[in-house]
Amino acid sequence: MELLKNKILEEGRVLGKDVLKVDSFLNHQIDVELFNEIGKEFKKRFQNKEVTKILTIEASGIGIACITAQYFNVPVVFAKKHEATNMDKDNYEAEIFSFTKNKSYTIKVSKKYILPEDKVLIIDDFLANANAASALISVVEQAKAEVVGVGIVIEKGFQNGRKVIEDKNIKLESLAILESMEDGKVIFKKLT
Ligand code: 5GP
Repeated sequence: MELLKNKILEEGRVLGKDVLKVDSFLNHQIDVELFNEIGKEFKKRFQNKEVTKILTIEASGIGIACITAQYFNVPVVFAKKHEATNMDKDNYEAEIFSFTKNKSYTIKVSKKYILPEDKVLIIDDFLANANAASALISVVEQAKAEVVGVGIVIEKGFQNGRKVIEDKNIKLESLAILESMEDGKVIFKKLT
């Protein structure tokens, strides 16, 4: 997706060897027009799939998922990372090791919002080693629903995430795939 790749080149900052900071349009400030194009692109890439629900994780996935959901006319469910006293007690749970925070935490999704008949499209901002995506896939499996695909805005193609998802025979679509970020320079994989 050219628009997204240009935005990454203009505004992305490489931290260390393997973290891309895109706070100016994706993870802190939000470029709504770009999100709108991202939503359209996900609709195009999953147009042959029946989708009844979009599942993501708080916080950065929510904005992308909501705009994408408008093109599918379906609700968004987001997994909660934080304990809340008013959260339902009957939840699906899965553990995630966070790449950026270097610690594990448990996500929760109320059993009310993913049902066995659901066909779920999982959406997230980044794919690194697929820890977050695997936890969301586990939630859908626990609900005995179906994962119809995983849609990612930025995939770090030099990490293991794609293999993890494709080994589960799940369709993965990433709108920009980074081949490397050596010396602070972002190189895209061709054909993304
Ligand atoms: P994974 O679970 O695939 O290992 O990592 C993906 C999750 O970690 C995403 O939800 C994202 O929040 C975060 N993440 C991983 N790598 C990066 C990165 O390079 N930049 C940013 N901003 N977030 C990342």
